[in-house]
Amino acid sequence: MSRTVLIVEDEFDFADVVALNLRRAGFETVAVRSGEAGVTEARHRKPDLVLLDLMLPDIMGTEVCRRLKSDPATRGIPVIMVTARGEEIDRVVGFELGADDYVVKPISMRELVLRVNAVLRRMSQVPGEIETASMTVGPLRVDGSSHRTFVDEQEVGLTALEFRLLVVLLTRRGRVLSREALLDQVWGLQAEVETRTVDTMMKRLRDKLAAAGRYLETVRGVGYRFSDQD
Ligand code: CA
Repeated sequence: MSRTVLIVEDEFDFADVVALNLRRAGFETVAVRSGEAGVTEARHRKPDLVLLDLMLPDIMGTEVCRRLKSDPATRGIPVIMVTARGEEIDRVVGFELGADDYVVKPISMRELVLRVNAVLRRMSQVPGEIETASMTVGPLRVDGSSHRTFVDEQEVGLTALEFRLLVVLLTRRGRVLSREALLDQVWGLQAEVETRTVDTMMKRLRDKLAAAGRYLETVRGVGYRFSDQD
């Protein structure tokens, strides 16, 4: 069964080229030209992935993303935010809203298809690993089945990527993981995202985990590990 990508994009030319290239790569595509239509279509059609333009004629792509990720019916659908150079918002904002990846136009169609495949691969692989991870370390408790995180029994709101980052480190407790390995295992990307992205997210994750943040150790010149000390 082929997978469907919903393209939410008001630039017709760009949407057509993207659709053509995705169909060549074996996907089915549906294209809509406004944010409201994007939300409706995502609920109705349950696509495997949404390519979401930032600047839309009615509502911002960030708002569309927020709505999709806060609705249980569409929360699980991965979203790749698409922006044009010059209208770039902080990519952290995109990730904070739960976007699964972030690309900037102009982008080669080859890379775009790679990114779509990487996100889908990531979605299909790691859930199994995450489901089984219900672990407690000191004040930190991670519930893999509900994707919830607690520190001293207070729930901590993590984005999907932050949660993955934590689980990937936690399930390999005591082992050092390089930034490249984390990019591969958390983001499902090789060289396409800068390794600095890992540092930024690690800092946010540490801040959010407060008392449990100390478990996330930086290993200078190598990468990160989840401490094996209680
Ligand atoms: Ca646009």
